[in-house]
Amino acid sequence: MALLQIAEPGQAAAPHQHRLAVGIDLGTTNSLVATVASGISRVLPDDQGRRLLPSVVRYSEDPEQAISVGHTAQAEQVSDPRNTIVSVKRFMGRSLADLDATATPYSLLDTPGMVSLDTRAGAKSPVEVSAEILRELRSRAEASLGGDLVGSVITVPAYFDDAQRQATKDAARLAGLNVLRLLNEPTAAAIAYGLDKGSSGTFAIYDLGGGTFDISILRLTQGVFEVKATAGDAALGGDDFDHCIAEWMRGQIALENPTPADTRLLLSLARTAKEALSSVASTELAGRSSDGREFRLTLSREAFEVMSADLVKRTLRPVRKALRDAGLEAEEVDGVVLVGGSTRMPQVRAAVRELFGREPLTDLDPDEVVALGAALQANILAGNRSAADDWLLLDVCPLSLGLETMGGLVEKIIPRNSTIPTARAQEFTTFKDGQTAMAIHVLQGERELVSDCRSLARFDLRGIPPMVAGAARIRVTFQIDADGLLSVGACETTSGVEAHIEVKPAYGLRDEQIADMLLDAYGKADSDMAARMLREAQVDARRLVDATTAALAEDGHALLSRDEYQALQQRVYELAELLQTSAETRAIKDATAALNSASTAFAERRMDAGIRRALSGARLEELA
Ligand code: ADP
Ligand code: MG
Repeated sequence: MALLQIAEPGQAAAPHQHRLAVGIDLGTTNSLVATVASGISRVLPDDQGRRLLPSVVRYSEDPEQAISVGHTAQAEQVSDPRNTIVSVKRFMGRSLADLDATATPYSLLDTPGMVSLDTRAGAKSPVEVSAEILRELRSRAEASLGGDLVGSVITVPAYFDDAQRQATKDAARLAGLNVLRLLNEPTAAAIAYGLDKGSSGTFAIYDLGGGTFDISILRLTQGVFEVKATAGDAALGGDDFDHCIAEWMRGQIALENPTPADTRLLLSLARTAKEALSSVASTELAGRSSDGREFRLTLSREAFEVMSADLVKRTLRPVRKALRDAGLEAEEVDGVVLVGGSTRMPQVRAAVRELFGREPLTDLDPDEVVALGAALQANILAGNRSAADDWLLLDVCPLSLGLETMGGLVEKIIPRNSTIPTARAQEFTTFKDGQTAMAIHVLQGERELVSDCRSLARFDLRGIPPMVAGAARIRVTFQIDADGLLSVGACETTSGVEAHIEVKPAYGLRDEQIADMLLDAYGKADSDMAARMLREAQVDARRLVDATTAALAEDGHALLSRDEYQALQQRVYELAELLQTSAETRAIKDATAALNSASTAFAERRMDAGIRRALSGARLEELA
């Protein structure tokens, strides 16, 4: 019998105590689990040697095998589509209003916060469905590693918002996994490559999966990863190439009105053919349509490349945008990493090679690279750290975060593409004399007006001591943690009153919505600027009208002659009237300037009177 080893008390992770940690790529189409053993990251296969777990969960009628996950579930997708959930990742953190319910075979329920799916096992939230996939990977890992897991790193798309990240964390918790951190998928891929090569420079991560496309630009310096920009297309992936081949087949066999069974058959043949064409020059597609006709077709790689050329081209636009955001030319990128099963297609590799003018990196399996990187990160976070692993990871927030200010304007606090974790603070002040509360409205988006951005949270800061407008100093702090979750705090610095909120929006933004918001902001920068200038002019004018009205009421009769009083009041009325009737920035600014100069003498007299009043009660020694 071997001797038991005893560690010193309080000493963490002695060399012999390897703490079991895994990296999980929770994909839309496929999921994987990987771990680091003897310094090498590797994917853990199931008991039949399969490395990919299809992200499919089925709720069956069989009480013995009520829930099946992966290949067994996938096999029933055609016969039992309503109870066999595929691509559940698309529903994570989304409400029914965010989704196109007609585009899915499921019966979706409008449950508060997040949509749920009505199955024969009852209503299932996307969090519960994802938890089944994670539970499967967890037991695979525990069986193959022979012990309980200390923790896990789970990857999410860089574009996931707070609600989607929170939902992913909840799913992990439900599956009994301790989440050490969430990690952006492209960043995980960079870790897998960056650590292997110990390189530095700028890298592009091109990820074409089953249903999504993501491009990220990362910079790696002295062991520090920093994400410079991200972009993508949430509705573009390998599935679209399947549809393209299926459509071609339908034409070839002149199938006018395909039944749902025909459509599924064509799609499954198309997918097999597509995957085959990545390694062979030509392939056969054979089957029988529901009208009883046998068919046998031949598809060459060349023909497939022609019919899918537009799909490949569609991935290049977000690539150029990400490069622009990062302020880079394609030639300045030092390496391009391919991620996702669809980057096996030779035409995709060729397009990427041509755009960047260099051979993309493919040393690591594109299906596995994300899980491998996540495992490396998990290994370090679990405490199995060596000096060489001592690096820091920076990530990026995809949309700007800001606050509502007077006039329905958004003041950006954390600009888009800032690296996270990050904390930024900005000072604000009160608008009205004696204002004791302030409404803090947190927004996400690129546009200048509140109505064009997404509202994330609202809270009030109360108990501000009454002061004249502009005297209070309210410091608002935005903090994004390493998982991309936001917390906002507000503090009045002269009195110390504070308020704080964790931003966990009830449901998420759709990726297309994020993309739209970005596109919007680019297209509308000019009109936004004009709108902002108008709002600012209106806010200034309103402030002057209010202040002058209050001053006239207080001191007007004491300090002004009748004529002076009436002249000034007339200007106030004119400006107030203009605010009601005009949307012309120039006119409002001119009238504001006119009232400003007309009231200067009055303001000086008020100041003098104020000083006299203040001095009248003061004793001499206080003045000295
Ligand atoms: P996700 O990240 O969405 O879970 P994956 O990275 O696992 O997706 O990619 C799945 C997609 O990759 C599917 O559309 C699949 O058909 C495609 N794929 C897998 N292998 C190949 C191949 N050899 N050639 C072309 N496409 C492939
Ligand atoms: Mg993926």
